Amino acid sequence: MLFKLVVFGFVAILAYMFFTGKLGQLAKIKKQKIDATNMIECETCGSYVAEKDAVHANGNSYCSKSCRDA
Ligand SMILES: [Zn+2]
Repeated sequence: MLFKLVVFGFVAILAYMFFTGKLGQLAKIKKQKIDATNMIECETCGSYVAEKDAVHANGNSYCSKSCRDA
């Protein structure tokens, strides 16, 4: 009996979230977080690195100082 109530409550919450569009909003927020970390390609070795961790020199971007100096 209690189990049925819990399942019903869970389904009701899911339905409520679906109809109020909250599920869509959550998905959007997740996507924005992923997009916020801009990945750029290293000019030397071709591996991808987060823009904040990249080394910039001469208008190019590198994954590390050793790639920049290579
Ligand atoms: Zn590199």
